[in-house]
Amino acid sequence: MRVLILGPQGSGKGTQAARIAEASGTPHVATGDILRAAVADGTALGREVAPILDRGDLVPDELMVGLIRERLAVEDSFVLDGFPRTLAQAEALDAMLDEIDKALDTVLLLEVSDEESTRRLLGRAAAEGRADDTPEAIANRLRLYHELTEPVVERYRQRGSLVEIDGERSMDEVFSAIANALERSQVTG
Ligand code: AMP
Repeated sequence: MRVLILGPQGSGKGTQAARIAEASGTPHVATGDILRAAVADGTALGREVAPILDRGDLVPDELMVGLIRERLAVEDSFVLDGFPRTLAQAEALDAMLDEIDKALDTVLLLEVSDEESTRRLLGRAAAEGRADDTPEAIANRLRLYHELTEPVVERYRQRGSLVEIDGERSMDEVFSAIANALERSQVTG
């Protein structure tokens, strides 16, 4: 199973991606988690990206594409979360999948309003203290989502491969909507 999950920060995509991955025994490839682990480990990559993450800016496409290329080389199936975030990344992903002769089964979009995203992220800031959950970084991440990631959403929508899920319901309701969508795509795909 090769699934992509898109949605703004605070849409619950990390939580849902982890649940899909666990329920289906598929690796969860979350670029934000990979980058935060590099920061925590103090690797060269971590030192390079730490200030970018803190500001809520995007890590350069080249670096991200390199990271994903390494992972796709070893994973046959995946739940990809946090990538692609720009059109350049989406084009690179298409090319990589073509190269290894694989296609995505499903592209999910978790839809949540800016108000709800911001409310959830500020709540998470209080609970988890993530360095990039400051009000300034949150606003910056949402702005970049609209500017750079929505065109990626549009690209998949135009291809007819996007499954839109209302992300403003409870975690369990969202998960069962996703499970239904995945089942349908296995049947029809
Ligand atoms: P996330 O956990 O997906 O919200 O990602 C946290 C941060 O990691 C983002 O705000 C970006 O700084 C960086 N990041 C994660 N994925 C990407 C990506 N595909 N392209 C650029 N930056 C990324």
